[in-house]
Amino acid sequence: EVAESGESRQRNSLNLAQDESEPLVEYRGVTKSFGDLEVIKGIDLRLHAGEKLAFIGPSGSGKTTLGRMLMTLEQPTTGTLTIDNEPIWQMKDKRGNWKAANEAHLRSIREKVGMVFQHFNLFPHLTVERNVTLALTSVLNLSKEEAIGRAESMLEKVGLLDKLRNYPSQLSGGQKQRVAIARALVMRPKVVVFDEVTSALDPELVGEVLAVIKEIAKEGETAMMLITHEMDFAREVADRVIFGAEGLIVEEGTPEDIFERPQSERLRTFLSRL
Ligand code: ADP
Repeated sequence: EVAESGESRQRNSLNLAQDESEPLVEYRGVTKSFGDLEVIKGIDLRLHAGEKLAFIGPSGSGKTTLGRMLMTLEQPTTGTLTIDNEPIWQMKDKRGNWKAANEAHLRSIREKVGMVFQHFNLFPHLTVERNVTLALTSVLNLSKEEAIGRAESMLEKVGLLDKLRNYPSQLSGGQKQRVAIARALVMRPKVVVFDEVTSALDPELVGEVLAVIKEIAKEGETAMMLITHEMDFAREVADRVIFGAEGLIVEEGTPEDIFERPQSERLRTFLSRL
């Protein structure tokens, strides 16, 4: 018990130190509406370098939309979203005035943000190796040799080195998702958004994908935004868990705070229905 309270003290002071340092990603007063429907109602959120953040909450609460704004796929209606202090959705023109981000600006942001989706989104006509090397050669301009070297070591990490020459259609769902994870990480992004990456998988394939993410999380340097229905996984991997409902953050804290000491009725209800 003494050791435990020491550990939690240490964790608290660590959180405090982190909160004062520069965030890697920051949402400030972010809202998002689709037509008349406001799905994000004002979010303030900071993610630090290397931090693993899990998002949980009822379906329809805006988790995916929050991730898609960071992935440059949805533009906030109001508020700002920055990475490395640089606004994602705004840029300065020649005179130094702010204007809406153009495609070149968004492309440069995308080099820092890895994306893994529910439905893999692999290129069906390319081999596993080509899927993983494509952006290395075409976006980062690496030589073919360098790209293949990086791709192979990443595919080894996700346990798929023997599938280099296969096409996505020849892989199981779990293997496809591991290729998609390798493809995102090989770019060495500062943050990776994992958007419900196990939701489309047969139950028996979920474990291998979560195990790969856990392994990568342990290495530490890449920040992760994990949008997930897998509570045990969130609990094991996340440094911090955010519970959202109806476009707002309802509660946030350590996995212990959220799963063992839920404060709000909404979170207690959500957890009791799982
Ligand atoms: P979650 O990930 O928590 O399930 P989402 O972010 O997917 O929530 O969705 C939040 C709400 O926004 C839902 O009501 C959804 O129907 C709506 N929504 C999401 N994307 C769009 C869109 N492109 N157009 C209209 N409504 C959308």
